[in-house]
Amino acid sequence: MNQTIPTDNILTLVEAILKNRALPDGEGSTMKIMPGENAYGLITSPIGRGLWTAFGTLRSALAEMIAEHEKFHNCVLGPTGEHTCEKFSKRAGTLQERIQIIDDLRWQAMKEEHPASFDPRIKGTGLRDGWTFVALAPRRSQEPTEPNPSTIKLGNDALSRNLMSRIASIFQEPPPSSSIEGLPEVGDTEEVIGEVTDPRIQALFTLSQELRMSARKVLPTDMPWPENDRLENLDPAKMISWLRKQSENDAEAITVILNELRKATEVLQKLAWRAVRDTCLGDKDPQSIALRDGWKIALGEPEPEENPLEELFGGATIIRGMPGGSSLLEALLHR
Ligand SMILES: [Zn+2]
Repeated sequence: MNQTIPTDNILTLVEAILKNRALPDGEGSTMKIMPGENAYGLITSPIGRGLWTAFGTLRSALAEMIAEHEKFHNCVLGPTGEHTCEKFSKRAGTLQERIQIIDDLRWQAMKEEHPASFDPRIKGTGLRDGWTFVALAPRRSQEPTEPNPSTIKLGNDALSRNLMSRIASIFQEPPPSSSIEGLPEVGDTEEVIGEVTDPRIQALFTLSQELRMSARKVLPTDMPWPENDRLENLDPAKMISWLRKQSENDAEAITVILNELRKATEVLQKLAWRAVRDTCLGDKDPQSIALRDGWKIALGEPEPEENPLEELFGGATIIRGMPGGSSLLEALLHR
């Protein structure tokens, strides 16, 4: 196996995997199918296979790095030279972040190859016996019931189910520079520390905006749409009171769609922001950065779009006035 997988820049790493240069011949999973798991079929796409294989290799690289660090400290002479543990843990932490992104991308790619696995009623997905993609067995109380009779649903042509091919095309063929609407101007007190000039990173952010706006195609027009259809600016209170007027099946279908869009957007955003840090900032590594008009990178509070729709689904932000900080989804299921 070719072990020269680049680990120090997410763009180079993803490019190597997507162009199938890094790890063409993985063996898939060594786990056996468990009772109750249902096979969707094989993973055959080089993208899914490449991401799976790269994930394993990267995890070994991280384990090796940590083992070497321990060995270094246990050496009779002790750590010498310019070593600082702080630097080491930062390097390991960043690698771990890149591995997490590859992890998210591999599941997205595998689900896209078998779109039936986007069904929100399944407990989860897994890879078994080489390249067999399975649905994990549901807990007894969660047996899938009748298909949701709502007519509001995402088709398999939805952008959130075709994300990997779009990401791949960004890396296959360098796109022209793009622009993005709705970014705030640099504020008077803000410090600009860099600029996104790589057209691939620009294209990732543009794709993420397209994804957020793709909801228009499936969700009802009388929904309380935020300005410019920016879903991350949905007003949770308005949204909840509107959802309560819909039929139970429709309300559930809509929250499921929003949740799928949120997950896909998160994967993309993590990739794009890591790429900004790996490519545009040199040695600077500030805690929070924000995107401004003209692709400027400013120091400061991150844009809310970093956690799109989080407010609606729990997570960091709690919906004001909801009992126990429950998410919209929970609120609906227990109404
Ligand atoms: Zn150390």
